[in-house]
Amino acid sequence: MQKFILLIFANILLTSTLAQRPTPDKIETSSGPLMIQPILHGSLVLTWNDKIIYVDPYGGAKAFEGIAPPDLILITDIHGDHLNAETLNDIKTDKAKIVVPQAVADQLPENLKGKAVVLSNGNRITQSGIAISALPMYNLPESPDSRHTKGRGNGYILNLGGKMVYISGDTEDIPEMRALKNIDVAFICMNLPYTMDINQASSAVLEFKPKIVYPYHYRGQGGLNDVEGFKKLVEAGKGNIEVRLRNWYPE
Ligand code: ZN
Repeated sequence: MQKFILLIFANILLTSTLAQRPTPDKIETSSGPLMIQPILHGSLVLTWNDKIIYVDPYGGAKAFEGIAPPDLILITDIHGDHLNAETLNDIKTDKAKIVVPQAVADQLPENLKGKAVVLSNGNRITQSGIAISALPMYNLPESPDSRHTKGRGNGYILNLGGKMVYISGDTEDIPEMRALKNIDVAFICMNLPYTMDINQASSAVLEFKPKIVYPYHYRGQGGLNDVEGFKKLVEAGKGNIEVRLRNWYPE
């Protein structure tokens, strides 16, 4: 009986977590659908061509309940909302490779260091059949004592069946972002004082014109940023860009 009650309780917990998580979005690619699952803050799961990709896993095992374990993990930077040892140790990483900048490789939990594949700004690799490029992410003006120094962290661009997916990491509206071309889906951070405000973010997005943009990583010191305001700014720019607002902060 006790076991039965426990089972019901576990089920309720699982259902409530799943209920709060946004429904994944589906985008067609040349190799079948790409599923986009927002998780928490800067964390997301991409599923494509039978591969499961976790980006900056954060939020503990609970945040990933009911989601298949990763084939590939991408980590952008050393801060706890991106390199989260607790979550990495909570999830099943048996078959995963972990793509990271060197600074993250140096700080990975000892038991995971063997899974690291180091990628530096400006370089590209193919891992698990996925072409991955790393680009810089940093604060402006560039300075050695900023929160995000140029060269330490990685933004990533993935080619998933011809769809180009850009994950900004923690950055401001750097020239490398503004110069991007042919991005289909962009995940753009916007939180103060850590990254940028919605004016910078919308101005950059209107310059590089991704087809779809997801504001993500938008919880800052003053709470959640005004992503509705970001959407209005982007739409006013008439760049024919679809802004997708999703709940990146489930309870
Ligand atoms: Zn962050």
